Order: sequence, then structure tokens, then C-alpha cells
Amino acid sequence: MVTRKLSASRCDDRTQESLKPEAGCPIHVVNPDATVSHWSGTAEFANGYADSETEDLRAGKDSHGFPAIVRNEPMYGREGVIEFAVTRGKDAGVFGAKESVAGITQQLEVALGHAPAGMAIFDNAEALVFANDKFFDLLGLSKGNVRSGMGLRAIVEAGAGAQPVEALYKDFCLRREAGVQRELRRVSDTMERYISIREESLPGGGWVVVVEDISERRNSALVIEQMAHYDGLTGIPNRALFLENLMRAVAQADRGTPFALLSLELDNLNCINDTFGHPVGDELLKALARRLDQCIREGDTIARAGGDDFAIIQTGISGPNDVEALAIRVAELLREPFEICSQQVIAAVSIGIALGPQDGHDMDRILTNADLALNRAKAMRPAPYCFFDCSLDVEMASRRSIEQDLRYALLRGELEVYYQPLIDLAAGRIMGYEALLRWNHPTRGVVSPLEFISAAEDCGLIVPIGEWVLEKAIRTAALWPSNLKVAVNVSAVQLRTGVFANTVRDCLAMSGMAPKCLELEITESVLLQNCNMTLTALRELHDLGVRIALDDFGTGFSSLSCLRDFPFDRVKVDRSFIQGLPEEKHASLLVKAIVAMASGFGVAVTAEGVETLDQLRYLHSIGCTEAQGFLFGRPAQAIRLNHRYMICQES
Ligand code: C2E
Ligand code: MG
Ligand code: MG
Repeated sequence: MVTRKLSASRCDDRTQESLKPEAGCPIHVVNPDATVSHWSGTAEFANGYADSETEDLRAGKDSHGFPAIVRNEPMYGREGVIEFAVTRGKDAGVFGAKESVAGITQQLEVALGHAPAGMAIFDNAEALVFANDKFFDLLGLSKGNVRSGMGLRAIVEAGAGAQPVEALYKDFCLRREAGVQRELRRVSDTMERYISIREESLPGGGWVVVVEDISERRNSALVIEQMAHYDGLTGIPNRALFLENLMRAVAQADRGTPFALLSLELDNLNCINDTFGHPVGDELLKALARRLDQCIREGDTIARAGGDDFAIIQTGISGPNDVEALAIRVAELLREPFEICSQQVIAAVSIGIALGPQDGHDMDRILTNADLALNRAKAMRPAPYCFFDCSLDVEMASRRSIEQDLRYALLRGELEVYYQPLIDLAAGRIMGYEALLRWNHPTRGVVSPLEFISAAEDCGLIVPIGEWVLEKAIRTAALWPSNLKVAVNVSAVQLRTGVFANTVRDCLAMSGMAPKCLELEITESVLLQNCNMTLTALRELHDLGVRIALDDFGTGFSSLSCLRDFPFDRVKVDRSFIQGLPEEKHASLLVKAIVAMASGFGVAVTAEGVETLDQLRYLHSIGCTEAQGFLFGRPAQAIRLNHRYMICQES
């Protein structure tokens, strides 16, 4: 280290001349009283680098550093030997010509003292030139132990092993690239703090070290991360994180590590919200997430993929058996009723399963296939889960094309209502007709509602279509003799809209038809969803005088409990029971029991799908008084109906 005292008395005329400010550019000579330490300029002269201009950090006599653009100019003695140098400190205005370096450094110290960040300047020999209080505070150093001029190692020792100081030291030692930012955790006695340390090399050597408290920023970042990747309600991963993990699983599957995607849907969330209120629905979702969490192993992911959609990514599987075991475990655990806000709530969950990579090599395919399997699982209820297979793909393709065509069917006038007679067996006459939808497809021909109703339900088209059928059937029936009724099939989706009762009321009002001439046929799936809105709509219509019938009786799992839940006017025994009459003993006994039980309830019974006289005779013998079937008439267009149709009573 070279230390030289500049003295004005040693300057000759040339020197004095060179000390004059250049025009337009403030030039400052290093204060002649200042001790210039670490002045590489002198060494540079010795090495022949005279007349250099460098950006440098200069130290005054009290060791306060200040940045300056320094021009070293050799001053030659009479013998042509460099005697001393003049240093011109050039700055854009920080240093005033009249201000002393001491004053400037003081100003600098005050300014940096108020800086929100900790700052320290080290010279190119790694000795501390200046540090503000924040620097000591953030690094956990005691100010009393550290002095200007101390080397980094000494400061590390003064910090008594303070972790950030050591790291800082290491950084220096490694001569890391300037501007590299490091984040360090510092735990003080009272709190955990995160600080960032940034080192910038100074022109001409030396470092400025900026230390910042980033705890708050980091905590907000953590909150943002939590919000971006986790579901606010249940606390489990959300769709974004689920997709990230799925992408990883798909990539690993291609490298030979198979996985399974289980797509879960809580089928009755809407109804639970509707019946018990949203707080109960929310609690159910939370409880469900907790139960799912119990089913998985480390490395698996559970996620809330949407409102009532959950997903599990099961990894580390050796085959479908592992997946089936998990599906069974999940189904069993979720079958147990939930105790929410002192209410017993049953979650109806369906699970669709796709395996990676065999059911898809990319994320979209796996997701689609798990959804296809989920749809199948829903259709197969109460079986809770279903694996994807290729037939589902074909089915979905045709379903999609049906959905697409159906969107235009109403507009193009391709839909039509047919009417099938309902027979009063006791009176031997037609008591009304069931309205049955037909679709005259331009290329497929007449499409059965069995092929498109569920697609229409899935895409919501059933609402406008159902409304159209209702209006059409009521308008048609309003022209019939007043003793004939019309029965219209209604889907659960229509009942859940909340406006269904009004729609019916409007249609009746428009046509002038008496409410008792209208019968609405619903299936037990409507009641199974235990939806307040549905029951309210049905009760409202019932009170208005509209008849309500339970269709396809006996095919579901809760037919009997449905009779308890709603005061039906009629049950329609499903065709599958009638088909076996009178030979099939079980079917015969069942139909007999249903007829007896319904009459006990005071509910009328209609036998569906009667095709033969033997069936009719048997139904007659057990006291069934109403029937419908090809024996009496197939569904037909309104203009072809013959209301005078009478059946001959056999003696
Ligand atoms: P559903 O309400 O049980 O209607 C009775 C079905 O059985 C009708 O089938 C009818 O044509 C058929 N059928 C009647 N008698 C016999 C018989 O003796 N033998 C045989 N083999 N079949 C008979 P379709 O018209 O194909 O309707 C099927 C189902 O589609 C209906 O069953 C109903 O659930 C649904 N559906 C029909 N129209 C509508 C509608 O406008 N809205 C809604 N939501 N569903 C509808
Ligand atoms: Mg029906
Ligand atoms: Mg039926």
C-alpha cells in the first residue's frame, strides 16, 4: 500500500496550472491535507501507466471513502523524473469545489445512514471503508467491534460466527460476479429475518455491499405462492399445482414410471348448498379434502381441480390393482356420512380413472380420458369408480357429434313430439298420452331420446329442449277433450333451474289447460339429489293441481324411499318388470307387490311396456288398473291420434 501526502508547497507552476478547473467540468484536486491511501495510481506510474483516468474509490485521512473519477497526472522534476502526481477528482456534482473531503464524506455518511438498506464500502484490499448502522443491524454485528480499515476476516471474527457475515466473506473470497444477489436467512433471538446481500464491484477496485431486509417481501411472496398454488378453502393444491404435478407425472411415465389419475366429482354439492346452505357445502369440501388426504401416500397429490372436482395423482404404482385398491379406499372413506354443523351429510362421489402412460402420453389426453371414465362412473352409479377404456373414447366422439347437432336441432325444426296412449284398464279407454320426444336427424334418421337426452342434460340443452316439449305438449293437449291428460317427462336439470314451476304455470296459463290435465314424469334420480330447489318446485306444482308421477319405478335403488319423500300421484312400473310377465315368477311377484303397496299408499299404478295380451291379463288379475305399451298403441304424431280408441274387455 502506498501512502503519499500531497503537499501544495511541492507544486511548481506547472502543477499550479494543472490544478485549475477545466472549463465546464469541475475538477477537484484531492484535498492536499488528505492522506491518500491505497492509491494504486502511484503504483501505476511506476509501472508506466501514467496519465491514466480511472473510476476509483478514494479514502480520505479519516478513512471515509468516496467515489471519484480520478485522473492521475505525473509531475516531472527537473531531471525528468516523476516527482509526484496530481490527482484530479471529477464528479458530476457530489463534490463541490469548496467542500472538503471530510465534509463530503460526512454528508455521505449522513445520507447512507438514512438509507433503508445496510450499506458498506470496502476498498480493493477488502478493508472496510464505511458502513452505516443498518449494515450492522441487519448482519447482527456489534458496531463497537467493527472499525473502519478492518479486513473482512476480522469482521467475520467480530461477528462471532454470524451466518450472513460468513457468507459474505465467502462471497468475497470466491470473488463472485458483481451484482449477484444472495438471499440468506438470519435468525435473531426474537425473530426470523430474511436478508438479501448484494455486492457490486466498484470501478477501480473495491466493493459496495448492500444488505436489505426482505422478510416482508419474502413473506408476501410466500402468501402469493400459497394463493397461486393452493385452494383457499381446503388448503390442498389447486388446479394450477395439480396440472404442474400432472405434467411431471406424465413426463416420468414416458420414462417408465407409471401413474394413475383419479378424477373425482362430488355429484351432489349443488343440492347440499341448496338444502343446507353454502357454509355446510364449504365445510363438506374441507372435510372431504381431509379424508382424501388420509388415503394417499407421500409423493401422491390430491387437489381441488374445480368447484366440486377433486383429483388424485397416484404415483409409484405397479399396476391397476394398486389403483383399484386406492379407489376402493377412497370410496369407502367417503361413503361414511359427514357430520357437518350437527347435520349428517352424505357425499355422492364418482371416480374416473386413467392410467399413464397407457391411457395417454400427454396431459390433455389423460385428463380427457379420466373425465370420460368419470362420466361412465356417474352413469353406472352406485358403482363409485370406473377405469377408462377405449370404448369410452368412441362413445364420447359420437356423444360430441350428437351434442353439436343437437344445438341446431331446435332451430332447424328437427324435433318433434310423439304421443303414446295411456290406458285406463278398468274403463277400457284412453285416459291420456305420454309426450315422447323424437329427433328427425337429417342423416341419422329418427333418433331415440335414449340416445340424446343424457347428452342434452350434460350440455344443458335439455333446459330449452324440455321447455319446448312442455309448451308443445300442453298446446296440443289443450285441444283434446278435457278428460284426456298429457304426461311430460322432466329431467332433474330442468327442475334445478329454479324457474321450472313458473315455466309450467306460464304454459298452462297460455293454453288455458287445467293443471289437473298435466302430469309430470320424473325419475327417482331427481329425488336422490335431495335438492331443495327440486322439491320446492315439485311441491309448488303439486299444490297447483299438476299431477306428479314416478317414472321407471323399480329400476333405481331407492324407489321405495322416494314414495316416502314425495306424495306422488302415480308410479309407472318399469317395462323391464312387465316384460317377464306372467312367466317369470320373480317379476310377477314383484309387480304384484308393487301394485298392492301403491294402492296401500293411495297411489295409482301404470304398467309400462305392455306388449302382449298375457301381460294384460296378468295385470288385470292383480288389480293393476292402468297401462301403456305397444299393445295399445305406439308413440305417434298428434294428428294420427284416435281418442275414441277402446279396448275390448274379455269376458
Ligand atoms: P319413458 O318415459 O319411460 O317412456 C317410455 C318409453 O318406453 C318410450 O321410449 C316408449 O316409446 C317406450 N315404450 C312404450 N311402450 C313400449 C312397449 O310396449 N315396448 C317397448 N319396447 N317400448 C315401449 P322412448 O320414446 O324411446 O323414450 C325413452 C325415454 O326417453 C323415456 O322413457 C324418457 O325417459 C325419455 N324421454 C322421452 N321424451 C323425453 C322428453 O321430452 N324429456 C325427457 N327429459 N325425457 C324424455
Ligand atoms: Mg316417461
Ligand atoms: Mg318409463
